[in-house]
Amino acid sequence: SVVAAQRRSAELEQLISSDPGRFRVLTGDRPTGPLHLGHYFGTLANRVRLQAAGVEVFVVIADYQVITDRDVAGDVRGNVRELLLDHLAAGLVPRTATSTGPDGPGGSGATVFTHSAVPALNQLVLPFLSLVTVAELQRNPTVKAEAAAAAARGGAAGRGMSGLLLTYPVHQAADILFCGANLVPVGQDQLPHLETARVIARRFNDRYAGGREVFAGPEALLSSAPLLLGTDGAKMSKSAGNAIPLRASADETARLIRSARTDAQRRTTYDPVHRPEVSSLLLTAALCRGTTPEAVAEEVGDGGAAALKEVVTEAVNEHLRPLRQRRRELADADDHLRAVLAAGGEHAGAVADRTLATVNQALGVTC
Ligand code: ATP
Ligand code: MG
Repeated sequence: SVVAAQRRSAELEQLISSDPGRFRVLTGDRPTGPLHLGHYFGTLANRVRLQAAGVEVFVVIADYQVITDRDVAGDVRGNVRELLLDHLAAGLVPRTATSTGPDGPGGSGATVFTHSAVPALNQLVLPFLSLVTVAELQRNPTVKAEAAAAAARGGAAGRGMSGLLLTYPVHQAADILFCGANLVPVGQDQLPHLETARVIARRFNDRYAGGREVFAGPEALLSSAPLLLGTDGAKMSKSAGNAIPLRASADETARLIRSARTDAQRRTTYDPVHRPEVSSLLLTAALCRGTTPEAVAEEVGDGGAAALKEVVTEAVNEHLRPLRQRRRELADADDHLRAVLAAGGEHAGAVADRTLATVNQALGVTC
């Protein structure tokens, strides 16, 4: 449950601060569009913070997963570039071919790579598929929600759920387990997938490795905004047209926030259960300013939705100013972006080859 995951996340934060070297992070996104405020407060800020605290970070750009719920992949290359710019602008320090460090080329830089660049990772999906049942996959609430959302948009899902969407959690388990990640900073929608990864790790060890711990069970790290709402009141999502992109201009941000759904009450209060839209806006402003949503609500007082939106716009634009500035500075650095993906792909490939060799040995399929 979300409450249990939140409680565990608080414990994990303690453990991370006392011994960051114990943890390895894998997290990622689909290159379906530029990142938005939900990503930023749900996971991206955590990725950057964990790396700065000394945790090794892997970031997968899940390019094969773009076609889980749509007919055409769209501008994947452009979207990969946008994802990378968002990460670097937010402060992630990437592994590059030229940087050196304790574990070879790249040192402590984050390993950023695409699925398509790491064949051995994708190959792990085959044995992992044997460890879950179709019924288990069909019960996954996030897979069901994404299939429904895609159906509502029309297109691919009009034909019913694809095999790729159904097995998305297994692919994600391969992402996490190939690099031995034990910490996954994600939004709330990813909790069911994390559970699948844990099940696969456990069953692999039991069934194929005689109980030896080949794979450790990964844990989710939720932020204080594990489910930020979009301008229509549903989960903010790249594909839903309800997002406030990190790269938006200050004016676009103001326009988008003005269009956000709220309610008719004059007085602003923080009440996530009964007033989810207003509360999500308050939380956004609070996270930008490093204060509590209650304090922001107090400040807005009886000003109504217009006053609330003005406060949120100001807080968001102020907080994102340096990120947006860095993003502009990086916009011409295509060679650097290519080098980051090449170095990340190479390192992830070497790690995945080792894991695949271990898996093949456990299965007895190698000579
Ligand atoms: P898509 O609509 O294409 O699925 P998305 O906006 O849902 O895109 P993903 O790439 O699926 O983004 O998710 C990347 C990461 O960002 C995941 O860890 C997810 O939990 C997190 N995330 C996405 N949206 C939100 C949100 N609204 N609030 C908090 N975290 C979020
Ligand atoms: Mg999603």
